[in-house]
Amino acid sequence: MAISRFSRRVLGIIGLGVALPGALLAGLGVYLTVRISDAIHAQSQRYNLYIAQQVAEAYEQELLAELQRAVGGTSGAESASRNGLDRGEILRALRANTGDFVAPEFLPYEALSDYELLMVEHTPLIYARGSGPVSSQWFTGLLLRGPDGTVRGAGGWWIEPGRFLTTHLRPVFEERLPGNERMYGGIESTRGLNIRIAGPQRELILYGRDPGYGKTAYTEPLGGPFTGYSVRVAANSNSAVVWAGRFVTLLVVFIALMGLVVIGATIFGLRYTVRQLELAQIKSSFVSNVSHELKTPIALIRLAVETLEMRRFSSPEDSEKFLRSISRETMRLNQLVDNILDFARLEAGRKVFQFASVNMLDIVRDAVESFRPRLDDQGFKLEVDLPAVLPPVRGDAAALSQCVLNLLDNAMKYSKARREVRVSAEFRLNGGAGAVAVAVRDRGIGISPRDQKSIFEKFVRIETGLVHDVKGAGLGLSLVDQIMRAHGGRIELRSALGEGSTFTLVLPAMQGAEVVRTEPSVEQAAS
Ligand code: ADP
Repeated sequence: MAISRFSRRVLGIIGLGVALPGALLAGLGVYLTVRISDAIHAQSQRYNLYIAQQVAEAYEQELLAELQRAVGGTSGAESASRNGLDRGEILRALRANTGDFVAPEFLPYEALSDYELLMVEHTPLIYARGSGPVSSQWFTGLLLRGPDGTVRGAGGWWIEPGRFLTTHLRPVFEERLPGNERMYGGIESTRGLNIRIAGPQRELILYGRDPGYGKTAYTEPLGGPFTGYSVRVAANSNSAVVWAGRFVTLLVVFIALMGLVVIGATIFGLRYTVRQLELAQIKSSFVSNVSHELKTPIALIRLAVETLEMRRFSSPEDSEKFLRSISRETMRLNQLVDNILDFARLEAGRKVFQFASVNMLDIVRDAVESFRPRLDDQGFKLEVDLPAVLPPVRGDAAALSQCVLNLLDNAMKYSKARREVRVSAEFRLNGGAGAVAVAVRDRGIGISPRDQKSIFEKFVRIETGLVHDVKGAGLGLSLVDQIMRAHGGRIELRSALGEGSTFTLVLPAMQGAEVVRTEPSVEQAAS
């Protein structure tokens, strides 16, 4: 049953009013979050780069300081130089402190202009790349002065940076770096950084939590004697920047889900409301249909009873007519009440069928005879075409009789100009023990193919122009359908608009029952 166009429009407006802004807001939320995410990402890239540069600088600074500390062993050479001793004496003094350096060296003052002078912690440290056989080595040393205080040259050693790093990096890492303000000052503590020192071939020299080669890691080269070496730095996976990125992703998913939930809830809510409106409409039309169905026979019965009571009839035939009317309307009432009660029982699953071996010929004959007066009254031509014998079926006699009566009632109700009803029965040989088919045909208004399925649903009535003046509760066919299913049978319909309808009850014949083929109609069905 459809709800009114007005209700549909209101629901549509509500649906759009909720779902559209919901979807728009969710879309906007996702858009803004993605923009924020981009900004945070760019910012975090800049931040990571800055941190990497700071860390690289700190390393360089501390490594040079370590180098300087290591070349502190020039004191012997310094005093030899200050005493004016020659190059050989100076070298001997240096050799005594060679440690992990490669070879001692004294560079005279004239040669110093070729070297770069580096100040580390306010003391000049000299370093220079060697040439020829020592090209992979660096000279590193301190200025040596003569007896008059003038610079004589530089005394120091050739070093191999790799070797130096291997032996000196750990103390630098553990003892010196923690005190460097570049490492642990600035905007955020860099204590949680992932750091890796790599050699010229990217080989790992030392790491404190390896940053790997992910997108957020930056590599900064070291300078001076450590040229070719690099520090790779990445934010720790627990750092605020990394968490901000994670939260943004979560937020996008969260907003998108929220949008989906809003749209889903709107659709669900609207469907639920439509269903409730339909049910309310079905209920109200059902109540009004049933009231009308009840009132009409009651009014007719009252009229007949009053007439008889007041003896307002002129002849005994007249009184007969009123008595017949009472009997007819009582039967109609009875049928309606039976339908309602059975329907309620079936719906509640409380209907109990009394199955027994039933002869459909008896059922059909009794139903037709009890219905005949109503058809006669309405001027119907009734044709009954039954075979002499039919195999029994397993069924509930009262329920099956109710089916036939409902079909007869409909045939009468939905016929206009051509008032002809034909009731027939036949045996069908369609597998198993065969089936018994009882057909009720009318020449009435017919049913369009579109409606032929829905009329078996409860409360469904086709309220087209042709039937709009015929009242009914919309229960009859639904009941017949349910009863047939409970019997393992079915109801068939053949109908064309304006030409009439044939409803056929098909019930399985009882196993082992005798099959009798006597009537021509049975022959046709079987062939
Ligand atoms: P009711 O007759 O009380 O409305 P039914 O369940 O018996 O309820 O029938 C459902 C609908 O099927 C009817 O409203 C009517 O539109 C259609 N219908 C039933 N029987 C016939 C028939 N013999 N000819 C035409 N239409 C019919």
